[in-house]
Amino acid sequence: MEKVCPVCNEINDIRYKCRECGSEMIDKGRKQEYFNDYSADDPIYDIGDYCLHLFKCTKCDFMEDTLIRKVMM
Ligand SMILES: [Zn+2]
Ligand SMILES: [Zn+2]
Repeated sequence: MEKVCPVCNEINDIRYKCRECGSEMIDKGRKQEYFNDYSADDPIYDIGDYCLHLFKCTKCDFMEDTLIRKVMM
């Protein structure tokens, strides 16, 4: 058994509502991949049972960090 992020592995189609306008937010990938200047093994982006993603609103471009809980495979 291995803990994996459901968003990285496309197990669940996780969607969030924008807190600014209520529109749909989409996954922009893991934050460490979005901001390339950060080291890939920076521990802050893989927090225990969580995976840090960046979600962006499709309407107003509001961006938000979201911790995705890893699931057992
Ligand atoms: Zn992930
Ligand atoms: Zn929005």
